[in-house]
Formats: sequence, structure tokens, C-alpha cells
Amino acid sequence: MPRITWISSRTDGPVTSRDRHSPRILGINPWIYDFAAYNLWSRPVGLLACLEMLRRTGCTVSLLDCLDGSWSNVPWPEPSPDGSGRLPKIEVPKPLQLEHVPRRFSRYGLPMHTVRETLTDLDPPPDLVVITTLMTYWYPGARAASELVRTIWPDTSVVLGGVYATACPEHAESLDSFDLILSGPLEAEENWRSLWRLLKSEPPPLPEDAGLTFFRQGYPSPQYSFLLASRGCPLSCTYCASGILYPGLARRDPENVIDEAARDWQRGARDFAFFDDALLLAPQPWLEELLACLPARLPGVRLHAPNALHVRALDSRTCQLLKAAGLSTIRLGLETANFASRPDSKLSREEWDAGLRNLFAAGFNRRQIGAYILFGLPGQDFNDVHQAAAFAWSYGIQPHVAEYSPIPGSGLFSEAERCSDYPLSEEPLFQNSSVWPCVPGGFSWSARQHLRSVLSSARPKGG
Ligand code: SF4
Repeated sequence: MPRITWISSRTDGPVTSRDRHSPRILGINPWIYDFAAYNLWSRPVGLLACLEMLRRTGCTVSLLDCLDGSWSNVPWPEPSPDGSGRLPKIEVPKPLQLEHVPRRFSRYGLPMHTVRETLTDLDPPPDLVVITTLMTYWYPGARAASELVRTIWPDTSVVLGGVYATACPEHAESLDSFDLILSGPLEAEENWRSLWRLLKSEPPPLPEDAGLTFFRQGYPSPQYSFLLASRGCPLSCTYCASGILYPGLARRDPENVIDEAARDWQRGARDFAFFDDALLLAPQPWLEELLACLPARLPGVRLHAPNALHVRALDSRTCQLLKAAGLSTIRLGLETANFASRPDSKLSREEWDAGLRNLFAAGFNRRQIGAYILFGLPGQDFNDVHQAAAFAWSYGIQPHVAEYSPIPGSGLFSEAERCSDYPLSEEPLFQNSSVWPCVPGGFSWSARQHLRSVLSSARPKGG
């Protein structure tokens, strides 16, 4: 049976008797309950930031990530050579609200009995459990984890954080499953104070770089890892929730970012995904220092950028640095080919042309580059998706459809509410991109087939 262990605040290693008075905090990244899920080097970075903040302020911490495949004796689908891959799943009944959706619904991640036995074995038990949520409509996973925790340790406080807690705090309150709901980052003053109140202690000062350093020791043999050098994004595209989840923009010293990642490299990780929302929008000396140090400190590393890179920042020098640093998966935020009426102001046709030219000139090949195109925006028709896909293919790069998920507080949410058949703000399950909440008629297999034929008709023969 896999085990999770307590990590000491003093030594950054296993606890000893000298840690017996430290508060013990367990972080849980719960299962995903959804129609589909795929692992693109995913890590619960918000939770890892919370655990590291707490560890550095005197707590003993531990992590149970229900989506981590490095548990030696749990069967897991074979990952791709680059570390991404499918997650194990078991079909479960659909929530009542989604019963009409003609798709199978599953729980993704570690088997329930494995999680139960692992938690039961954790000795000594936690004083407090922090559960994260990576999407608003994944709250059933957090609720299931909370129920399990309460069954095993009825007196332990359970705190909810993450995207759902931040974007839908009233709904989270209504579940009555959590002792505290952290809307926004833990390092926000009121959140920090509230959590320590639950621990019946005065809040200590926040550690330096709070929110920008991560508890990586919970993955002793990581199959892949991540780099996160900045948080937040200075832009505010109407379909995106970045500004709600992390207001402002914070950057970390590149040397410290790489020191931290190098520990995962020493533990065996060779694939690292950038999770920054606005990596390339940082000023040049900072970005240059970060990228220039990578090849020497993380030799042989393969870098991936599953979050779209900002095309307008892809000047010739940046593309050369990205190439030299080992970037091998590039996703660009094309979104639409209709540059005259975009739902954002992040890209012009000229910037797109220049960015692609610079990537190719730096030596990236077309197979390494993909373009996200948005599907399912309020009022969008299939023709827009066709045009965007054909546009991407005209540069020889593959379009990747990103289904729109309306997040409360984002610029487009009111319009999404108006055009959707679902009460989006009442029930986060309807914010699930897989149900096509803003597409007239919603998801159906025939509409999905239509989308597929639209996409394949945009593909050039032999492309
Ligand atoms: S879509 Fe990208 S550029 Fe736009 S706000 Fe979100 S993170 Fe920033």
C-alpha cells in the first residue's frame, strides 16, 4: 500500500519527535468527476503553494494527490513518452443536474479504497486538511474528499481552496462540507488570518515569496514536474478567469525558481511544464535570465507550455532562448481567426505572423506547435471554428479546440448567462465545458460529429 508521510518544517525531511508540537496540515488534491479528463502534466500548484507557505511557517505538512500516477502499486494508464497521459477512471452515476447529458460520467484518479486506506494509515492524524479544486465544476471531488476525511477524523477541520472556492464561494458554503472556504490565495491577509484562527494560533508573518514557492516533496519520484516563475496576468481576456484567481502579477527570482525545480530534476523528472499565465509578458532581463540558466541547471530537460504562450511576445531573441532552453511543446492562444472582432486584445494578425516566423526561424518544427481555438463562446457559430482551424492549418500547425467554460466573475459571464439554457450562476456543474453550456441545444453526439466534420474540412488534403 502506498504511504504518505509528514514532512518537517525544520529539516524539510521526515518528522522527528522534535516536530511533535507543530500543527500537522494535510493537503488533498481530490478526484476529478467529469465526462472527460486528461493529464497535461497537471499539478495542484495553488495547493502546493499553500503547503509550502505553511511548512515554512512552522507546520508539518503532507500531500495526497489523487491524480498522481507515481504510486508504485496502483495501476495507471501508460503515460506518453513526454509524461502526459490518461488518468485511471471508474464510471459513476451522473449528478442529477447532468442526467440528460448523453455522455458517460466518471471519477478519475486513485481508487477510492486506496485513498481511504492511505488516509487511515496516516499516523499521527492531521490537525487540519486543505482540499483544493482546479475547476468550479469539479466540486463533487472536493465534497467526496471532505466526506471521507470527516468519516476518518470527525474532529479535524476541513478547509476548501482553489478555483471553485474562489469563483463560487456562496455555492461552496451551501454544501456545508467545509469549515472554512478560502476565496482567493491563502496569502491574502484575511485568508491567512482565518486559517490560523482554525488552528487556534496567532498568524505568523507570511514567508518570503509566499505563493511563489511550492511543496514538491510530496512527489518523491515525480514522473514530470512544473516551472512556475510568475503568477497572474496583466491582460483581462473576457473568457478567462486568471484575474479572478490571482489578481495582479507577481514574479519570482529566476535563480530561486530553477533551484527549486532542480530538486525535482534530481528526483528523476525530465519533463517540466510551464504553468505561468503570462510567462513571456515579463520584462526581458528577467525572462532571459530564467531561460538562459535552464539548460545548464536542468540538462536534458524537455519543456512544455500547455498554457498558451503570448504570441505577441515571441520575438526572435525569445524564440531562440526558448529553443535553447529545451522547449518541445508549444501551444499558442490563437482563439479565433477573426482578428477584427476578437473577444480579447491580445493578438493582431501581424503579431501572429511575426511570432510564427520567429518560432520557425529559431528551429521549432510544425509538429511541436499547436494553436488553441475557442469553441462554445456565447453567440459563436461553427463557421468561426472552421475559419480558425483553417487559418492554423494554413501555417502547417494543428488546431486544438478549447471548449469554453463560463467562470463567474469573468468578463463574458453575464453574456454567457443570458445565452445559456442553464442557470450558470446557480449551479457550477453547468459551467462544465463538456456540456457546451453556451451552445444552442448543448452537447449532443450529432453536434459533436458536426464539429468534427467542420474541423476535418478545414484540414488541407495530406495535412
Ligand atoms: S487568456 Fe491568457 S492573456 Fe488572456 S487573461 Fe487569460 S492568461 Fe491572460
